[in-house]
Parts: sequence; C-alpha cells; structure tokens
Amino acid sequence: MKTIGLVAHDNRKKDLIEWVEYNYERLRGHELVCTGTTGRLVHEALEKKLGAGAVDRMIILKSGPLGGDQQLGAMIVEGKISMLIFLWDPMQPQPHDVDVKALLRIAVMYNVPTANNRATADFLITSKLFNTGYKPKLKDYTSYIQRSIE
Ligand code: PGA
Repeated sequence: MKTIGLVAHDNRKKDLIEWVEYNYERLRGHELVCTGTTGRLVHEALEKKLGAGAVDRMIILKSGPLGGDQQLGAMIVEGKISMLIFLWDPMQPQPHDVDVKALLRIAVMYNVPTANNRATADFLITSKLFNTGYKPKLKDYTSYIQRSIE
C-alpha cells in the first residue's frame, strides 16, 4: 500500500479531481493524504463514484495556506509519504508561497516521487514500480549532522 499526498491550488483542483476520478481503480487500496480543500473535493468526487462510505483510507489535513502543506511536509520527513501529486498554479501568486516552496524542497530532499502536472502524475501511476515495495534511496547527511561548529 502506498500513501499518496494530493494537493492542488484552486485553479488546478478541477484537473486533480478529474485525474483522481480517471485513476480511481489504480488508487483503490492506497491511502490518500490531502490538504483540506483538495481533500474535501476528492472525497466528494470519490463518494459520488463509489458510493457513500466507500472511501476509507483518506487523511484530510488542514487547508494548505492554514498549515496543511507543512503538515504534509512533516509526514514526508517522517517517511510516511510514498508519492506526491502537487498541482501548483504557475499563473497566480500564493499567500503561502513559502510553504509551497518548503513542501517542494522537502519532497526533493527525501527523494519522494513528485508530480507537478497531470502528465507526470500519469507517468507515476502507470510506472511498473507503482505496485512494488520500491523504497527511494536517501542521501546520507551524517557528515552534515556531525559537522563541527567553530
Ligand atoms: P487546499 O490547499 O487543498 O486546502 O486548498 C492547497 C494548497 O496547498 O494551496
């Protein structure tokens, strides 16, 4: 089972919902972790498709600008997220731009497979590695952690 982070900015939410609806068979059996508003809409869309009470493996965090991006980032640090679909808006400044950058940065740092557009999300979910126990290799930061401070 994979734990899949789902986040979409307002202008990209329709895209993400369509993607989830199209891929619901593949997503079944995996856990979804979403920021607040994205999660509400994904939940509504899946319940409409599968029936009330059918979506059991879903965690809905705070809304992104209210700390949800940071909660998701913390889950990445704890090794709890296996894949991230984050459709961010390239055309509109976000009030929580620093949180967006922090989430993208921590996803790179922990080598989490990340899609920032639907095409990449399609490649990830159809990858032959998707249904395996693939574990991303982590960089060893021991020398950084143990550096001497003068
Ligand atoms: P939202 O947050 O799902 O609560 O809208 C998304 C975001 O990070 O902007």
